[in-house]
Amino acid sequence: SFECMMEFSEFKLNENGLLPVVVQHYKTNEVLMVAYMDEEAFYHTIKSGKMTYYSRSRKQQWVKGETSGHFQYVKSLIIDCDKDTLLAKVDQIGAACHTGNPTCFFQPVVGDTITEKNPLKILESVYDTIIDRKEHPKEGSYTNYLFDKGLDKILKKVGEEATELVIAAKNPNPEEVKYEMSDFLYHAMVLMVERGVTWDDIVNELADR
Ligand code: AMP
Ligand code: ZN
Ligand code: ZN
Ligand code: ZN
Repeated sequence: SFECMMEFSEFKLNENGLLPVVVQHYKTNEVLMVAYMDEEAFYHTIKSGKMTYYSRSRKQQWVKGETSGHFQYVKSLIIDCDKDTLLAKVDQIGAACHTGNPTCFFQPVVGDTITEKNPLKILESVYDTIIDRKEHPKEGSYTNYLFDKGLDKILKKVGEEATELVIAAKNPNPEEVKYEMSDFLYHAMVLMVERGVTWDDIVNELADR
């Protein structure tokens, strides 16, 4: 049971008389889900130490995890500036989402969530675009120009870009290395596609060494 610094009556409830709760993992800060509390759910949460909500579909109190075992142990509760939204930091057992996904928020609407989570995914993404150009040539595409000219042209470009990278690396400004390394990696990936080598092949080879 937690010591409570504010009463439920001090909160500003929504049009349905409920308090929206943003649930976050206390260690990783991952946003896990959004649910609602009524007064009963709020005090049950504080007493039991387990996140308890009001289910709008079932119209009843709901201890998260009571059927799935995916309980959320309360670490802290924080109310926002205008006291209309609660932030719960929790220790999540298993998946927060009833779909089995670790978090309820996994359906992109706007923006590039893949590269936000794993920046190196951009290499796979550029590689996939190069494959796509080879399979479905596009008017005015530089990648298709390289494929049309063939292996010798691609090799010449890889050599040129490697040389430019070496020269850029002598420059005190690291910005140049950034540009030339990007040029080099792109041309190296065109070569990989031309010769049928995938990122998986590279990853496995490096892991085996
Ligand atoms: P649980 O509380 O995990 O035992 O799940 C009980 C029921 O609550 C599920 O069958 C879902 O209907 C619902 N539920 C559980 N977790 C979520 C969630 N993150 N978002 C929406 N509904 C949920
Ligand atoms: Zn504010
Ligand atoms: Zn607010
Ligand atoms: Zn969900």
